Amino acid sequence: MNQEFYSGIGYDSHRLVEGRTLVLGGVSIPFEKGPEGHSDGDIIFHALTDALLGAAALGDIGQFFADSDERWKDAKSAIFLKHAVEEVRVRGYRIVNVDVTVVLEEPRLTPFRDRIRNSVATVLEIAVRRVSIKAKTAEGLGAVGEGRSTEAYAVAMIARSESSDE
Ligand code: MG
Repeated sequence: MNQEFYSGIGYDSHRLVEGRTLVLGGVSIPFEKGPEGHSDGDIIFHALTDALLGAAALGDIGQFFADSDERWKDAKSAIFLKHAVEEVRVRGYRIVNVDVTVVLEEPRLTPFRDRIRNSVATVLEIAVRRVSIKAKTAEGLGAVGEGRSTEAYAVAMIARSESSDE
């Protein structure tokens, strides 16, 4: 039985507005603005959900959780990621690692990085060493640089024992 590896990429972006809580990877971060969105707008969980679904070629977050659905209004996005984890698990995959880059002008995420890693690892049910969270600014350029939006990029690697080459 060959161990086969599959990678997936995910991306998410939300407008930042006053009166919303900035939640990243399930961790609430004190800041004057937060993501506009139907759910809590957690870009790390949304990007990771798409990365996992992508690795298993299962579509994208919108197919599972339509933003027109009232059930997901202000939903905690851990629900979406947990669902993606379950979708890949039931198909026999294990999660090898994930890597995330958040692009956010402010606040600095360094003080929150370990909490975010732990939170993501808990939702994915994997060891913290398999979770990487990186942050950078947009150097003042564009909507992200002007603090009007934030973005996350994620990759996920999953593996499964395959009995054939198909
Ligand atoms: Mg989103």
